[in-house]
Amino acid sequence: MARIKIAIVGLGKIARDQHIPSLASSGAFELVAVASPHHQLDGVPSFADMETLLRAVPDVSAFALCTTPQVRYELARYALQHGRHVLLEKPPGVAVSEVLGLVDLAQHHGVALFASWHSRHARAVEPARVWLAGRKILSVTVTWKEDVRVWHPGQPWIWQAGGLGVFDPGINALSILTRIIPGALALKSAELCYPSNCETPIAARLSLTEPRGAVTHVELDFRQTGPQTWDIDVETDAGQLRLSMGGKAMTVDNKPVEAEQRTEYANLYAHFAALVHGRRIDVDLAPLQLVADAFLCGRRVEVEPFKE
Ligand code: NAP
Repeated sequence: MARIKIAIVGLGKIARDQHIPSLASSGAFELVAVASPHHQLDGVPSFADMETLLRAVPDVSAFALCTTPQVRYELARYALQHGRHVLLEKPPGVAVSEVLGLVDLAQHHGVALFASWHSRHARAVEPARVWLAGRKILSVTVTWKEDVRVWHPGQPWIWQAGGLGVFDPGINALSILTRIIPGALALKSAELCYPSNCETPIAARLSLTEPRGAVTHVELDFRQTGPQTWDIDVETDAGQLRLSMGGKAMTVDNKPVEAEQRTEYANLYAHFAALVHGRRIDVDLAPLQLVADAFLCGRRVEVEPFKE
């Protein structure tokens, strides 16, 4: 089968760390061009914007949008209107309504649209989902604490409206949670801590529930120094499950459970290839909806200004 000609839009950290290496080792895709206002990729035709790229490389059939979230909607709309398949990095937009509009457009043009959640492809997530499927969940605790200065140096967009602040990593936890917990999670309350000089929160506490009544507590913090924590603990009627390292490791009653070796972005692109071939849409809005709900009903607390 011919390889899918794909272009990357937004040549930043995630494009270089994950998308370019994954495409280089993928048999399903061929990276034919890049669009980024201030960066070029050696050996690949590079353009300042998507319009110029499409004029110069008209046979590109898919776009991976790896930009900051605030510009994703306009770019996705342009690509879909021009009949190209689209992969959205997480979060798929800055508003739930944006993404619904993109789904409409993809349906109208009969092209693939993938709202990707890379953490769902971490290797212990699927075994955790299967293990939890037959059990009664009593309580869930999510602890997602990382040092923003280490993971997002020089990224002012994260502190601007739509940049999500601590929900930028936090939505990864919510993407795993909404995959492994059966039943729809509902937000009950939230407390959001905003630095006095930022438009987005640096820490958040959420309380969620699900139809069978189990309570979930979520603690997100961008101010963690020293060891970093990306854990989900689930108490069930038949043992305790811990997902750690952002979904890469799993224990049941403190005993490690081996999971098949998987690479998040290799899996993500394998799935996107299948969507493109079937001209299908995979958009699960549950993680973004929970974040939107936290902004909708969260109590605001002002904290000290953030200095990079
Ligand atoms: P980043 O390093 O700031 O890169 C974002 C890039 O977007 C910039 O390089 C910028 O290009 C480009 N861009 C902005 N406006 C554009 C436009 N109109 N057209 C084309 N390109 C445009 O940010 P990042 O860390 O890669 O994060 C990007 C997205 O990936 C975020 O949604 C984030 O949540 C997600 N993500 C990040 C990570 C991570 O580890 N950082 C992991 C998973 C997912 P120029 O520099 O050329 O101006």
